[in-house]
Amino acid sequence: MTRKARAIGLISGGLDSTLALAMVKAQGVEVKAINFYTGFCITETQRRKGGRPDGSVPRNEALRAAADVEVDVEYVDISGREYLDMLVSPRYGYGKNANPCVDCRVFMMRKAKEIMEREGADFVFTGEVLGQRPKSQRRDTLRVVERDSGLDGRLLRPLSAKLLKPTIPEQEGLLDRSKLGDISGRSRHPQMAMAEALGIADWPQPAGGCCYLTDESFARKFFDVLRAREAAGEERRIEPDDVVLLSTGRHFRLSPKAKLVIGRSEVENALLDNYLEGRARVEAQGVAGPVALVEGVPTWEERQLASRIVARYGKGKDLPQVEVEWREDGEAERYPVAPFDDEDALEKMRV
Ligand code: SF4
Repeated sequence: MTRKARAIGLISGGLDSTLALAMVKAQGVEVKAINFYTGFCITETQRRKGGRPDGSVPRNEALRAAADVEVDVEYVDISGREYLDMLVSPRYGYGKNANPCVDCRVFMMRKAKEIMEREGADFVFTGEVLGQRPKSQRRDTLRVVERDSGLDGRLLRPLSAKLLKPTIPEQEGLLDRSKLGDISGRSRHPQMAMAEALGIADWPQPAGGCCYLTDESFARKFFDVLRAREAAGEERRIEPDDVVLLSTGRHFRLSPKAKLVIGRSEVENALLDNYLEGRARVEAQGVAGPVALVEGVPTWEERQLASRIVARYGKGKDLPQVEVEWREDGEAERYPVAPFDDEDALEKMRV
């Protein structure tokens, strides 16, 4: 009798990876699910920040999906320096926004391979569907990810397996290829039908969309930081603090060497207060208003400008003058300023 196979399944909590998990498990394979945290997952970031702007707290879909399918799940944080360095110089380039999906998949599969070897598993599988995404799920890119990750022959895409070359576990009889899927393209209907057949009733709507790197406004801020660092003669690099701050507040580029970030809610104001090191904290006095941070080395004129913009976003925006406090390196200074009122100029500075 063929021995029982063991596999590592990558799970996002979306429908496709949940189906892949259920399909492989249904073949009697011992499955361990892995959920990678990149630092850019929108729902996970919202959970860590204490909730969405409307106050609701999203659930962790990967944990929920693994529990539904009754498999163990390991949460693996890959958000460190190595991942950040990959982001700024992806070998296969970016998708529509700041998403280097092919490189990101290679990165994840390399980690999955390490886990496969550590756990003595036979293969790794994902919920990828041939042709579902324009760049990262084409036949040639699926192959590139398999090759570059070192998972040659051991990376199964159960939903599209019949349309792809048989993997080693299929050839060894550890999996019945006839029971794997032949789904391709962008339609979700085959997955819906499969979910019904497998008794899966719960998945997030809409599927995907969980990555800040695919978000247009986030991408603008991401590339703005890289451009500004290059223009200021600094290394082209994303720092761990940037990952949080790029998804927080309104951003205004004052110069390559100075940027203003203004909180948009109480939650964001509190969060900005945790990132004071190496930054100036700016807040209007005597009137309610947001907390703001200034990064970099602003000139005197840029300090005045930042103070005026901060005053513009507070309750004193229609007053002739507002006092604004700057705190940095344990010292505080106060400036009386006229709230900024040139909306066109403001829009031009907005990142
Ligand atoms: S969407 Fe984000 S997490 Fe997913 S592969 Fe692309 S860059 Fe990576």
